[in-house]
Amino acid sequence: MRYMDHSATSPVNPEVLEEMLPYFNQSFGNASTLYALGREARTAMENARKQVASLIGAQPEEIYFTSGGTESDNMAIKGVVSKLKNKGNHIITSAIEHPAVLETCKYLEKEGYKVTYLPVYEDGIVKVSDVEEAITSETILITVMHANNEIGTIQPVAEIGALAREKGIYFHTDAVQSVGKIPVNVEDMNVDLLSISSHKLYGPKGVGALYIRKGVQIQPLIHGGGHERGMRPGTENIPGIVGLGKACQIAEENLEKNMEYVSSLRDQLIEGVLGKIEQSYLNGHPTKRLPNNANFRFTGIEGESLVLQLDAKGINASTGSACSSKKLEPSHVLMAIGLKEVDAHGSLRISLGTENTPQDIDYTIDAIEEVVERLRSMSPLWCATPEDA
Ligand SMILES: *Cc1c(COP(=O)(O)O)cnc(C)c1O
Repeated sequence: MRYMDHSATSPVNPEVLEEMLPYFNQSFGNASTLYALGREARTAMENARKQVASLIGAQPEEIYFTSGGTESDNMAIKGVVSKLKNKGNHIITSAIEHPAVLETCKYLEKEGYKVTYLPVYEDGIVKVSDVEEAITSETILITVMHANNEIGTIQPVAEIGALAREKGIYFHTDAVQSVGKIPVNVEDMNVDLLSISSHKLYGPKGVGALYIRKGVQIQPLIHGGGHERGMRPGTENIPGIVGLGKACQIAEENLEKNMEYVSSLRDQLIEGVLGKIEQSYLNGHPTKRLPNNANFRFTGIEGESLVLQLDAKGINASTGSACSSKKLEPSHVLMAIGLKEVDAHGSLRISLGTENTPQDIDYTIDAIEEVVERLRSMSPLWCATPEDA
């Protein structure tokens, strides 16, 4: 099996798993208790908080553990707007956010908030001037993702953050796809809140974190005991938190090396696919993209058939995102970059990881070429080189 869907999830690094194991049944204490077993759990959790903070240039006390990226996004957005509802009712976001942000914004529209969904252009990138034009006296939050989960494009978050700060508006970014893959620094990026998910960076599923800049006040989503300084009550998932921390530490130590390695695989893949297959195209920005993302479209091909045939050849890849690929609607991200519906349906996302090899890429290029050719030979939509026809 060649796993090439790391934007959907990633395997737990063996070192991460090993670090987690004792916290299931040896050091299993409740971190709120006073005896040694509980203190052990607390120490492990505070160590993990430092590891997460270090990866993003934050202070440990600015990190709040959550159940994952979706909860972090909800906590940030609902938490800010509910705290500031007397100050204004306007939110600015982009059309290509993950559903964890988009659906939260749609819910808030029903609750009476106004939301601006900024367009992206053919390259999949938000214009800072559009953000500036969208700001009104009612704007209380700007939320624009760092890197897109489908097409991998990297947004100008530092510039958007600087603008938000100048205007006195809170800025949140969903950095689930970028943390551990490219440099993420909350100071350089001028962010007030930032979402992280463990399972996208070789940690376990069901755990994540929200960075909240010191001094930023939000309303908690969940009420209960005083855990996470009252911001996120509930007995902490210590094994998960330890795993997230370890994954962050490993990501930080290997960031440059992994970026270089994975982007070389990506470039090999892009060059091979575009070079060998006629009427194949890269979706998204050619260079401002994650080191591990390649999103292709092939004229005359149905993405789902492509994914299933690649699966039969032992290659795991996606159309659109894992979340929307079970639906029949075309991806909102591919539509936002101006693709026709039929082309959006003919897209394939390959998201690479550190365990992939150059041989995997060669195999994948050949497999895609073979499958595309076969599908086209059966497709009524396909007409070779129509330019010449
Ligand atoms: C995966 C993902 C999420 C959701 O994270 P979970 O931990 O799976 O809830 C949010 N945003 C982006 C950009 C993602 O890729």
